[in-house]
Amino acid sequence: KFNTDLGQHILKNPLIAQGIVDKANIKPSDIVLEVGPGTGNLTVRILEQARKVVASEMDPRMAAELTKRVRGTPQEKKLEIILGDFMKAELPYFDICISNTPYQISSPLVFKLINQPRPPRVSILMFQREFALRLVARPGDELYCRLSANVQMWANVTHIMKVGKNNFRPPPKVESSVVKIEIKNPRPNIDFNEWDGLLRILFVRKNRTVAAGFKSSKILEILENNYKAYLAAQEDAMMTEDNAALSKIVKDKIDRVLTDTGFAEKRSAKLDQTDYMKLLYAFHQVGIHFA
Ligand code: SAM
Repeated sequence: KFNTDLGQHILKNPLIAQGIVDKANIKPSDIVLEVGPGTGNLTVRILEQARKVVASEMDPRMAAELTKRVRGTPQEKKLEIILGDFMKAELPYFDICISNTPYQISSPLVFKLINQPRPPRVSILMFQREFALRLVARPGDELYCRLSANVQMWANVTHIMKVGKNNFRPPPKVESSVVKIEIKNPRPNIDFNEWDGLLRILFVRKNRTVAAGFKSSKILEILENNYKAYLAAQEDAMMTEDNAALSKIVKDKIDRVLTDTGFAEKRSAKLDQTDYMKLLYAFHQVGIHFA
């Protein structure tokens, strides 16, 4: 009956379902977005507390079941179902996001929330345990990775509870955890793509040094092209047709930034947000861009 390719693992433990909804501290005026309502075990509980629920569901059979479940109840009018892939859905404004997420879209789902023009006040999300632990990992932790560094720039994430696989039907292969994500407001004044671009270089192999990340010829080529674009956009464009010379200029700039900031021989996964920001700032000062 359930399509596990769509991550359909129904939360059957009512205490956990209620616990997740209560963690969101829903106000009667709130609009709540739910991703993947399935048969509605979370949805009916959210409907009791919220002004409105917008539910994004990919599977029409599930949507039909949910519609049937609320039909004739006072909650019926409060539920709007957006049928289709959440990743492609155009979202209305919402105050809160609650989801027992389909695990195959975990990472894009988090970034879609982060990049909403008016991001939700709080999100309570169930993920596969390892993904949840990556979201909350701190510099130096074994699980600290690009995802941790990236998400933590835009949001504060806390681990709320562990959920064993036997609370689902059918049980997934992996254990789960619920996390709370509070997106920073106002948003840090940093370009999302520049930040992401720098982290991609630093975390190619996270246990190597910062300098090692900048040795790859592919990466140098990208940074050279970005530098050309940067020069072209300057008023007093000092263009050079000589690619070898440009290559050397870019390499020297990178070396200088890495030495001056003192991060060259540090391991990427031991640095924190402030360190990455210093690095990004220093690169921008000399015209090196990552996006
Ligand atoms: N919320 C229910 C519960 O807790 O019992 C079901 C959760 S189940 C883990 C994930 C749900 O997400 C399924 O109903 C599945 O059909 C739906 N789904 C999977 N991929 C989706 C996508 N890309 N967009 C929207 N819904 C999706």
